[in-house]
Amino acid sequence: MQVSQFFDETLLNKYNASGPRYTSYPTALEFHDNFTHDDFIKAIQNSKNHELSLYVHIPFCHTLCYYCGCNKVITRHRDKADTYLEYLAEEISLQAPLFSDYTVKQLHWGGGTPSFLTHQQITKLVNLLKEKFTFSDELEMSIEIDPREIEMDLAEHLYSLGFNRLSLGVQDLDLKVQQAINRVQSTEFIGDFISHAKAVGFTSINIDLIYGLPHQTLETFAKTLLKAHEWDVDRISLFSYAHMPSLFAAQRKLRDEWLPSTQQKFALMKLAIETLCGFGYDFIGMDHFAKPNDELSKAQRNGTLHRNFQGYTTKGGCDLLGLGVSSISAIGDSFSQNIKELKAYYQAITDKQHAQIKGVALFDDDIIRGEVIRELMCNLYVDKQVINDKYNINFDNYFVDDLPLLETFIDDGLVENHAQYIKVEQKARLLIRNICMSFDAYMKKHINQQRFSRVI
Ligand code: SF4
Repeated sequence: MQVSQFFDETLLNKYNASGPRYTSYPTALEFHDNFTHDDFIKAIQNSKNHELSLYVHIPFCHTLCYYCGCNKVITRHRDKADTYLEYLAEEISLQAPLFSDYTVKQLHWGGGTPSFLTHQQITKLVNLLKEKFTFSDELEMSIEIDPREIEMDLAEHLYSLGFNRLSLGVQDLDLKVQQAINRVQSTEFIGDFISHAKAVGFTSINIDLIYGLPHQTLETFAKTLLKAHEWDVDRISLFSYAHMPSLFAAQRKLRDEWLPSTQQKFALMKLAIETLCGFGYDFIGMDHFAKPNDELSKAQRNGTLHRNFQGYTTKGGCDLLGLGVSSISAIGDSFSQNIKELKAYYQAITDKQHAQIKGVALFDDDIIRGEVIRELMCNLYVDKQVINDKYNINFDNYFVDDLPLLETFIDDGLVENHAQYIKVEQKARLLIRNICMSFDAYMKKHINQQRFSRVI
């Protein structure tokens, strides 16, 4: 892959509009409260799937990172987690019987900070999940870790419980950047923890990095990238910092003058992609990097890469059940979400025996468009005949009002629209969200609203 082709600055500036990350179609903005728990149960009954991916949300964090846009609760009181885990256990016990004919292929703990939990709390939760659900022998079990508040022996503990993948929030290793975002952490400890986790047996370690943070320069970020290389991690997620202080109050602590300009941000992104590809990582989708022998890389090569609420994944065939406050599920032809506020979540579990607050039952049109968008996001390619055969449509007739929206990308040499297929050129990879928006029937409603982050 020729890396230089990703960076036509004129084109990137031309299309640097805000757009959804398409972890689902329709996006979560279309969820509504007319979707009830009965609809959720109907979706399970109608789903032909018997494989499940479980997502467990642990909302607590010790301190607030000022760039954060996640749903979290900042506290230093561990007993808050005890209370939460009681209600979560109740939710698990209520939901699990609905999935008795499913096998869990994937379990992911996210947050917040799952590593906020004590060893005992982690053990108890894993054991409960294993008791209530049927787990596959080839279970992929992953957890997000904040390296600031953990001890070295967390690695052994997680591994002994069956976790085989770790994801560490690193973001940036420069002290000035870390101080500005209120996330100071020890580079030495992270390196030691990664080595230790590998020695313990973890075969897949991911780190998250962010570009566009306050005070970041090419020089400082180059050092962060070099460390990632030295640590020899398997995957790297590279996110663009989306500064949306009107939506996320914590971001108001980050002064505009500290942030890189669009041009500087572009240079940081370019540096990161060039450096990581230079280190031998494959560029996956629009924001992930993986070693060539990693499953994500293999999935991209053989066209089976998938995308869900957790980003790019190899487990496309599974229904997804979200557990815990604010978590999202994708069951059969539906999406649904739990209540976002902690107290309301507790109340709902007590009063209603579930915490779902909204969702959406997909229309046939959503399913067809969702598949086209997913194919583009994952494979940069749509085989029109496959869509025609699967949904009994004529692609060009069905999308007669949408295809003209591709014209601008075609004129700029970014997309080819042939009778049999649509192909996105590699040089348009960073603009893939904007290209997908051409097939998004809900987009007109949201145009001119800053509901989504920008491409760069
Ligand atoms: S970035 Fe992660 S650790 Fe920091 S406040 Fe947000 S969820 Fe918590």
